[in-house]
Amino acid sequence: MPEDCIFCQIVAGDIPSRTVYEDDSVLAFLDANPLAPGHTLVIPKAHHERLNDTPADVAGEVLSTVHELVPAVEGAVDAPASTVAFNNGEEAGQEVPHVHAHIVPRFAEDGGRPIHALVT
Ligand code: IMP
Repeated sequence: MPEDCIFCQIVAGDIPSRTVYEDDSVLAFLDANPLAPGHTLVIPKAHHERLNDTPADVAGEVLSTVHELVPAVEGAVDAPASTVAFNNGEEAGQEVPHVHAHIVPRFAEDGGRPIHALVT
């Protein structure tokens, strides 16, 4: 694991996080700077920088976890919808170079605005 990878340090338990779900290969935890209550990140425990570098089976485990967690995350904060996204590469806004899916609960008061409109 790259020593300077924040998400690898979370996987190792060296940086605290609020775990939403964990199994042998995937970890989900609350985003430290949430765009909405319940904003959750889903990552493979193994370090892969972006989706393009991630083996299909690992990407499948991440997506399968996202699929399971979406209704649970929405339900936990009583959200009627959510935005699910990967920022895939620096130019796309990926700040942490360890592949991750965002699950961002969305609410009626969001008015159907795109996700970037939530950034203040
Ligand atoms: P990106 O822009 O798609 O790479 O998103 C990275 C996300 O990681 C951002 O939403 C950050 O708020 C979040 N983040 C960065 N550091 C931490 C941390 O230590 N714990 C939880 N979330 C983090």
